[in-house]
Amino acid sequence: MTEILMNQEEVLGVLFETGAIRKGHFKLPTGEHTNHFFQLPLALRYFNYARRLSVGLSRLLRTVPQISSLLPNVSIVGASSGGIPVAYGIREALQADQIMWVEKGEDGNTRFRQFDEVAPGENCILVDDIILTGKTMKSLVNLITKSGGKILGIGVLVNPCIAKLNFEGIPIMSLVEVPTHHFSDEKICAICKENGKPMQVGW
Ligand SMILES: [Zn+2]
Repeated sequence: MTEILMNQEEVLGVLFETGAIRKGHFKLPTGEHTNHFFQLPLALRYFNYARRLSVGLSRLLRTVPQISSLLPNVSIVGASSGGIPVAYGIREALQADQIMWVEKGEDGNTRFRQFDEVAPGENCILVDDIILTGKTMKSLVNLITKSGGKILGIGVLVNPCIAKLNFEGIPIMSLVEVPTHHFSDEKICAICKENGKPMQVGW
């Protein structure tokens, strides 16, 4: 049987090799410049990679005492479409009760589909493929809190360490950190100074 767990080097190897992380000089739709461009679905499209990355993250989540003590009585909630395969992988590894996911409503906030909701007191682990500014996750934290759900922890595959993340004491676990430089525009972009024009990318 192939070893399921990957070390940090192997995780980064998979992410770069599949194009889930690209290194270079990129211009985002927001006008910001960056040295890494992330598209985690490019790695998660391979079932085995999705599974192995999720198992690695589930190991970290298990180290949170309030999570391990409540298993399997927890729901795994995906914060975006990219978080859905992660939610399924984590659920399998942790043998959690339920999997749920949200989508973005017209007002830009996260919402469940009609009749799908977290019950008051329900134990939730929130997951996503990546956490950039933290806005999407914050929106999900607010939604779950408003429903009366209890958030035990947050798990993401990749943390580019762009934003200072603070979710009121909720532990955040990331499988791998990929320190990334973000520049608000070309005037202050250090890569522009060395490397000329960036590649325009979408989301
Ligand atoms: Zn630049």
